[in-house]
Amino acid sequence: MAAEEAASWAQHEDEAPRTVFADLGLSELLLKGVEDVGYLHPTPIQEQAIPIVLMGRDVLGCAQTGTGKTASFVLPMMDILAGSRAKARMPRSLILEPTRELALQVAENFVKYGQHMKLTHALLIGGESMNDQRDALDKGVDVLIATPGRLLDLFERGRVMLADCKVLVIDEADRMLDMGFIPDVERIVSMLPPLRQTLFFSATMAPEIRKLADAFLQNPKEITVSAPASVATTITAGLALVQEADKRRALRRLIRAENVQNALIFCNRKRDVDILYKSLSKHGFSVGALHGDLAQSVRFATLEKFKNNELQLLVCSDVAARGIDIGGLSHVFNFDLPFHAEDYVHRIGRTGRAGREGHAYSIATADDAKLLDAIEKLTGNPIPRISVEGVEPVSEEEMTEARESKGRGRGRSRGKSEERSGRGDRGGRGQRDAAPRRDAEARPARDEAPRSRDEAPRSGRGDEAPRRGRRREEEPRR
Ligand code: AMP
Repeated sequence: MAAEEAASWAQHEDEAPRTVFADLGLSELLLKGVEDVGYLHPTPIQEQAIPIVLMGRDVLGCAQTGTGKTASFVLPMMDILAGSRAKARMPRSLILEPTRELALQVAENFVKYGQHMKLTHALLIGGESMNDQRDALDKGVDVLIATPGRLLDLFERGRVMLADCKVLVIDEADRMLDMGFIPDVERIVSMLPPLRQTLFFSATMAPEIRKLADAFLQNPKEITVSAPASVATTITAGLALVQEADKRRALRRLIRAENVQNALIFCNRKRDVDILYKSLSKHGFSVGALHGDLAQSVRFATLEKFKNNELQLLVCSDVAARGIDIGGLSHVFNFDLPFHAEDYVHRIGRTGRAGREGHAYSIATADDAKLLDAIEKLTGNPIPRISVEGVEPVSEEEMTEARESKGRGRGRSRGKSEERSGRGDRGGRGQRDAAPRRDAEARPARDEAPRSRDEAPRSGRGDEAPRRGRRREEEPRR
């Protein structure tokens, strides 16, 4: 299946006749579950992976969030596991996820498709009561969905045994690598029976990821469905080049000018999420904030409100927003251009889903020239420039100048744009709420590093704390 087709599966929903779920070999009960959810056709990853998984083969899937990859492993797993029962503390399958949000979303998928089946699952994630998780394990579960740290915690306490796990899913392997979880994953894999089925998914296939796949998988079927650079054609994108001090004003005007039903607003730093959240609240917007330093209960409550349309806007960091699946998001705003060009594709891919129209607007300053170049190089398309009424634009000449000036790294720059705006009536460094930005830039917070580990737990040995120093106890074996 061509990458382009994979990226645009949704918008072809109404076109030529395509494969239906009944063609894939799933059981009647599961087909009923899928019908209840309202899916018409399998996505390319589902079409390719489901029959292979049902055959019992290992899968190496190169696919990102938004391609329907969750159902591509959840659905066949449910059929594989149907029919027999789990023993106490011995789950029959394991799904490893890098973040709590993703784990939660996978669990929601089990509930969603499994209405007519009697499978049980347990969610082992940091920040939640361990007692509840222990109780669930004691009853016996068919599917264990876990983040690596919490699973190891419970394993070390003798609450869970993995000897009966015959199906293993390693999801978002590239994120696991970024977050430093690979030693934990290797340890977990070494505790599973060598005779098992392994499904391994990653948005990218960097050499380190492929090495891991070689260690964990046996004769896998490789399935690639989406080029990381593809952007759905149902998304209208725009870029406003503005002065640093005008960013918040530009955002407010954009929001007001657009018919925004609900929008995610991305910032690169947790600190800026807080600042922008406060600023938008002050200006009367219906807004929430989401980043990894907020308490788990607050994050879930905010997310629920946003999903229920009680909040119109959600300001978030990349990692916190990853795994959030909100149907029908009308807009995405990049308050900051992401440090990693591929995150631009992930971010804006949250709108324009399932063939719907989406809007993605980004705000950038002259300091962002290099980040912008990287995004446009990756996607192969310049982002159409837009102007924001009442906000002075940065010219392309200033962008070129910024590109050419050497040693003017992000955050250290005091470029023309800043000098111009810094002391004017539009505010700048002297402005009350501009100060933290400077501080943040000089001293990046934990999740500001590229490929951050925004989700790190605050105490104990939770899932997300990378244990870089830990030795690999054992090579993963088959
Ligand atoms: P995922 O890539 O698993 O995060 O899925 C992205 C979104 O696509 C989720 O909202 C799913 O509910 C939705 N989805 C998954 N499979 C299908 C399908 N076959 N048809 C329509 N929507 C789907």
